[in-house]
Amino acid sequence: MVRRTLLVGLVPRSGLLQQRAFPVGNISHLTIGFIDLCECNRKTAHQDSRHMRTSQRSGRTDIRITLPRWVHGVLRRCTPCRTDEDKMRLVITLARENVERETGGPFAAAIFQQPGNRPVAVGVNRVEPLRNAVLHAEIIALMLAETRLRSHTLRAPRLPAHELITSCAPCAMCLGAALWSGVRRIVCGAGRADAVALGFEEGPVFPASYRYLKARGIEVVHGVLADEARTVFEAYRQRCGRIYNG
Ligand SMILES: [Zn+2]
Repeated sequence: MVRRTLLVGLVPRSGLLQQRAFPVGNISHLTIGFIDLCECNRKTAHQDSRHMRTSQRSGRTDIRITLPRWVHGVLRRCTPCRTDEDKMRLVITLARENVERETGGPFAAAIFQQPGNRPVAVGVNRVEPLRNAVLHAEIIALMLAETRLRSHTLRAPRLPAHELITSCAPCAMCLGAALWSGVRRIVCGAGRADAVALGFEEGPVFPASYRYLKARGIEVVHGVLADEARTVFEAYRQRCGRIYNG
């Protein structure tokens, strides 16, 4: 059954960032119409898949998008993020945990507000566990951020600027989503070539794509803690993680 909680996110709206980097509080579940974003207690891909089958048996197709429960533990432990490196270190930690706990692909992302470095949302890759090709880390982070802020755009006049921090340069889908989301800045860890070397298809992203974003007022920073980000790919490779292109 889809619960219709109007707004819940990873961070309380009045989060006290001076005290905790990600004050997750007791918020754990987000439901909007037929899209259900929630923290779940299921720990494995198999269990998530079983849940999806159960939802479909109810006679209608509900889409449940979940972050693994362990994400909240990482956010509770993290220290305030003030620099690009701090933020990248957080998303790399999330990506590494996603690999080690087998809850998705080797990618993670986060949304921060500027000025103030206020954390808004995070995402990890959930493509395989939830059987949904669009559930890249950046997409989940953007959806959570926009839902939490009650705005289809992060560039609304009432809102401060937002930035997307991602453990790997976005694929074609995520770069497009970043453009439509209204973020003003994108900070990347590993590069497109690193993802391709691992075996992932990144789609039609060209130098002209970045020139287009720049012309639309979006700054893109590449290669922040790139070596560290690449170690997550290596861990995924050693675990024989699945390359799920297409
Ligand atoms: Zn993507």
